[in-house]
Amino acid sequence: DYHKVLEENRKLYNQVQDLKGNIRVYCRVRPFLPGQSSNMNTIGRIDDGSITIITPLKYGKEGRKSFTFNKVFGPSASQEAVFSDTQPLIRSVLDGYNVCIFAYGQTGSGKTHTMSGPKELNEQTVGVNYRALNDLFHLSEERMDTIRYEIAVQMIEIYNEQVRDLLATDGVNKRLEIRNSSLNGVNVPDANLVPVTSTSEVLDLMNLGQRNRVVSATALNDRSSRSHSCLTIHIQGRDMTSGNILRGCMHLVDLAGSERVDKSEVKGDRLKEAQHINKSLSALGDVIASLAQKNSHVPYRNSKLTQLLQDSLGGQAKTLMFVHISPEADATGETLSTLKFAERVASVELGAARVNKESGDIKELKEQIVSLRAALARKE
Ligand code: ADP
Ligand code: MG
Repeated sequence: DYHKVLEENRKLYNQVQDLKGNIRVYCRVRPFLPGQSSNMNTIGRIDDGSITIITPLKYGKEGRKSFTFNKVFGPSASQEAVFSDTQPLIRSVLDGYNVCIFAYGQTGSGKTHTMSGPKELNEQTVGVNYRALNDLFHLSEERMDTIRYEIAVQMIEIYNEQVRDLLATDGVNKRLEIRNSSLNGVNVPDANLVPVTSTSEVLDLMNLGQRNRVVSATALNDRSSRSHSCLTIHIQGRDMTSGNILRGCMHLVDLAGSERVDKSEVKGDRLKEAQHINKSLSALGDVIASLAQKNSHVPYRNSKLTQLLQDSLGGQAKTLMFVHISPEADATGETLSTLKFAERVASVELGAARVNKESGDIKELKEQIVSLRAALARKE
């Protein structure tokens, strides 16, 4: 019946995704915040791999639009549950893979919550950043007899196409260059690179990064929603028997808010910011989409963000995009545009893996299954 067909659809979709070179998309729905009324909800049905959005009344009828992703986390999903589906990807950095994890979504949709956690941090609430490092520490200790790992981190911010060091101890206002050397690959040599061995050191660094972000924000209130922040974890492992060195790198990126800005309403600095954000997010979308389609030319050079991540997007690298949406009805427009962006970066050939209607339209699902099977057959 409908559920079986939906499940098979999702399974095939994931298989096609795997073949496409490790680009995964997870969707996370923020719960209503304390004091918000849940009457005005734009979220329809959620299951493991798809989500339906209820769109505003049109011609006296509510619309529905469904989207399929590798995974959908509903509003009650815990930080732990979100992390556990991310863990295998994170662990692959110890095997020498490059990994990129993004948080995408409009301001207030939960990006920082997923990556760093809320203001009150404790064992339950810490986000992917902290959990990732914690996990890497444990795993590297377990492997100590065979491989000796060194772990170091950098934290930078990209604001108006300028790169700044969030771990600078002497102020953050120096502009940094992104370099590409044959020895070290793409890197930011002048950003502080801090060796870490324990989670308490990591917490201290994250606090420093947070403070630096806040300091630069006073003039232009809440700059954090208008800049990209990137925690980069550099791993170097020495194989104790062969002496070989293995390198891996992971970028954890809290992107600038993706909301569209009405050009008729903003001027000056705000307009410039909006244009920079727009440019870099669409450059990111273009890069991921062109990787997913296995295009021969990938347009990395169109923004600082994609330049910085060049080594960690495509090739053998693994990419995960968390797309965040808000449940409020008045966010429906942004929610749909976020999900369309996500769908584009996850798009399968022919755009087949999309569930267009919720209403148990088995015929359509079956047609999609046929084209997903065909896509699999072509790739194999
Ligand atoms: P963004 O970084 O996208 O602007 P935030 O992460 O700051 O959004 O989230 C906005 C507010 O919603 C914060 O108060 C945050 O703690 C809360 N929030 C976001 N996601 C969740 C969640 N999954 N569970 C509980 N609270 C959340
Ligand atoms: Mg944020």
